[in-house]
Amino acid sequence: MTTCTHLDHIQITDLPEAVEGCEECLAAGSQWLHLRICLECGHVGCCDSSPNRHASAHARDSEHPIMRSLEPGEEWSWCFLDEVAMLIAEVKGNTRIPPSPLG
Ligand SMILES: [Zn+2]
Ligand SMILES: [Zn+2]
Ligand SMILES: [Zn+2]
Repeated sequence: MTTCTHLDHIQITDLPEAVEGCEECLAAGSQWLHLRICLECGHVGCCDSSPNRHASAHARDSEHPIMRSLEPGEEWSWCFLDEVAMLIAEVKGNTRIPPSPLG
């Protein structure tokens, strides 16, 4: 079993109360499917099923390996380097997100 060796990158353990959406999609006027938050800097981006895949672009460009889903009821995190999903108990909170523009 693969385990993530990047847990020391996690800086965000209190999730924001609410977010507006994918930061780059909002700036560009484009649309997203699901939202992910970077646990190193708090950047909010869109998932790999979205047209622009801003969460994985952020992980690559910023070398921030771990993101967490912001979808209601989803508590998993993902490490882009180890390609492993995990539950990180230290990360708390429920973030209110707007409905996806793509449904
Ligand atoms: Zn990792
Ligand atoms: Zn986006
Ligand atoms: Zn980041």
